[in-house]
Amino acid sequence: MAVTLEGVLHDMSFFRDATKLDPTIRILSLKVDGWVGVKQLVFRAQMQGKSQTSYLTYIMFNQVDFQEEKDDTHDIPVDVDGKVFYAAAPDLRKNTIRLKCSCADFRFRFAKELYDVGALIGNWQRYVPVPGSARGPVNPEHRLGLCKHCYSLLTNLERMDYITE
Ligand SMILES: [Zn+2]
Repeated sequence: MAVTLEGVLHDMSFFRDATKLDPTIRILSLKVDGWVGVKQLVFRAQMQGKSQTSYLTYIMFNQVDFQEEKDDTHDIPVDVDGKVFYAAAPDLRKNTIRLKCSCADFRFRFAKELYDVGALIGNWQRYVPVPGSARGPVNPEHRLGLCKHCYSLLTNLERMDYITE
């Protein structure tokens, strides 16, 4: 099973507070990696909001087209062991994805559900209630979604023409 970013965004509309962009979050650093042999393009960013804590956020696209020559559609340069390839910008609706963020919201609200559809990078951790807290599970209906760092990175990548809609 696999899911596109469009599919995740569609399911995310269920979360009342998750669909709006937090304008305080910015990209501190961004690295673009291409794994040409397996056709994967990985955006790895350090994201920071007003708390000053920074988080590592990954958006990986599958089935990305790479070639050695730059042209109108293949214009994202990636260095692969000292050789430059050019990736075509992935499509929100067509390329399936895998995601990861180091924040707690991602780990406990979204990771398990993304894992279940093959869209998580790495492992998930079980939700553990704070001792003495009456708060229930944070994602009781098991919806897909993005933390605010993934969402902000996605929005920035669109603005920078790294992703086509
Ligand atoms: Zn996050």
